[in-house]
Amino acid sequence: MIPFNVPPYVGTESKYITEAIESHKICGDGAFTKKCNAWIEQTSGVQKALLTTSCTHALEMAAILAGIEEGDEVIMPSYTFVSTANAFVLRGARIRFVDIRPDTMNLDETLIEDAITDRTKVIAPVHYAGVGCEMDTIMEIAKRHDLLVIEDAAQALQATYKGKALGTFGNYGCYSFHETKNLSMGEGGALLLRDEKDNDEAEIIREKGTNRSKFFRGQIDKYTWVNVGSSYLPSELNAAYLYAQMESADRIYEDRMNTWNLYYEGLSHLKDRIGLPYIPDECVHNAHMFYIKTKDLAERTELSSFLKENEVSSVFHYIPLHSSPAGRKCAEFVGEDRYTTRESERLLRLPLHYGLKREDTEKVIALIDRFYQAK
Ligand SMILES: *Cc1c(COP(=O)(O)O)cnc(C)c1O
Repeated sequence: MIPFNVPPYVGTESKYITEAIESHKICGDGAFTKKCNAWIEQTSGVQKALLTTSCTHALEMAAILAGIEEGDEVIMPSYTFVSTANAFVLRGARIRFVDIRPDTMNLDETLIEDAITDRTKVIAPVHYAGVGCEMDTIMEIAKRHDLLVIEDAAQALQATYKGKALGTFGNYGCYSFHETKNLSMGEGGALLLRDEKDNDEAEIIREKGTNRSKFFRGQIDKYTWVNVGSSYLPSELNAAYLYAQMESADRIYEDRMNTWNLYYEGLSHLKDRIGLPYIPDECVHNAHMFYIKTKDLAERTELSSFLKENEVSSVFHYIPLHSSPAGRKCAEFVGEDRYTTRESERLLRLPLHYGLKREDTEKVIALIDRFYQAK
């Protein structure tokens, strides 16, 4: 079977984990966590990054920092992972979904203003497949209506919009290092803070609501409970695994990009029959995902079974949140669902991971070709 995903592993992870163990510091915010934070700051240009236990938790931290309260409203696409919505629902917000653009699967920036009410507090764009949303427009709308922007950049590490890293436009940006993402630590993520004014508060929220980080830096002589917070600090063991990958990030990026380009070139002769990813001129993507779009749901089911019979694992995702049981309770879809449901039913993700062999990619391409030749 050609697996859909294999967690990235470059070979130096075990050595760094052993180093962490031997340093007798395996809780959070040790040497490896600090190296990971610094790597994110250097590569993205953000003034402050904090490693977290997941992207879900980074989003939860962002919702606390944004001061979300009961009755506030947050605008986002319905075509996203549950965490984008949950982070705000946990703080009592209602979610207002807007439709997506069929070309990038990102929220349609031209529909945002229709969803704004006097209770709107946040716009939460999701950079699907590491392809940037139309950030100039989104930031301009946020500014004009005095809203915060929280970017779900879970899939967007090392991807840019107009040369600037995704996750660094909004007030807060959230990365994921889950095992399905380009770089991984098993479970993990990071919160990116655009503005220095948030640094102290973010550290407090991440350290169970205490000012312990300041205490460890010797800036205060005892630490105490100062705000709401939780435990969003990953262990050094996880950070050690991640740091090994950060050192090899260029190699991982190139490897994934080669596979992505091979798929794109190998399938482009079918472009009248299947949809291929679209990358706007403003965007540089990170080869996080390669998907195709079949004619409809029936054809996707057929193709996916055909691939499975031939030992290729393909997956699809996101039942649109507005049609899920929880989504019906905590959210509403604003305007017409022209593309969200229809496009999500067409999308099929092909195997893509670090180290995927060229011959395996070619096998997948040949199978898809065979499927369509026979139709
Ligand atoms: C992976 C993902 C998340 C969740 O990341 P975790 O690190 O697993 O919490 C959130 N949003 C999107 C769009 C994702 O792809």
